[in-house]
Amino acid sequence: MDEIQYASERDLAIRNVDRDFALLRQIKAALRRIHHGSFGTCIDCESPIGPKRLAAVPWAARCIRCQETADRDRQEGAGLGEDLVNAA
Ligand SMILES: [Zn+2]
Repeated sequence: MDEIQYASERDLAIRNVDRDFALLRQIKAALRRIHHGSFGTCIDCESPIGPKRLAAVPWAARCIRCQETADRDRQEGAGLGEDLVNAA
């Protein structure tokens, strides 16, 4: 019984690390975009990302429309960290 609990706690911890790592990667990419002057511009359609979206998700790489399209494209891949992006 202890072992089962331990295993599920470990799985949860691994999932959290995965999610944090995905988030960290998105933040690093956002910092790079700030450095290159392309921050706030959608990486797909190059239109400006809405200020409300950037306020809620400062590391957002896509406008809400392109993000929704990207999410649909890889729906079965269970993208970790994407739920944070979609919270905007
Ligand atoms: Zn876009």
